[in-house]
Amino acid sequence: MGPDGNGLIRVRVFGNVEGMQRCGQRAVLMVTRVVEGTSTSVARRRVELTCGLASGHLGEHQDPAHGEHWAGKPGQTPTLLRHEEDDA
Ligand SMILES: [Zn+2]
Repeated sequence: MGPDGNGLIRVRVFGNVEGMQRCGQRAVLMVTRVVEGTSTSVARRRVELTCGLASGHLGEHQDPAHGEHWAGKPGQTPTLLRHEEDDA
């Protein structure tokens, strides 16, 4: 457990779904970054998300492990985009 509140919330979400049937809806997260010296964004990482909420939940799907949420219908695999600044 880290000092940030987010870590604690994620642990609680996992605890609530333990032993329950999970939603399991999937999405793909594309993490983009600007190429140094240009204004072009390229995909740097591709992350597969799985909804960790209980089956039949209301509202958006959530992947607590990756801190992402999305709206999607059954049978769809939406693609999300997240832009990361390169601070290094
Ligand atoms: Zn879901």
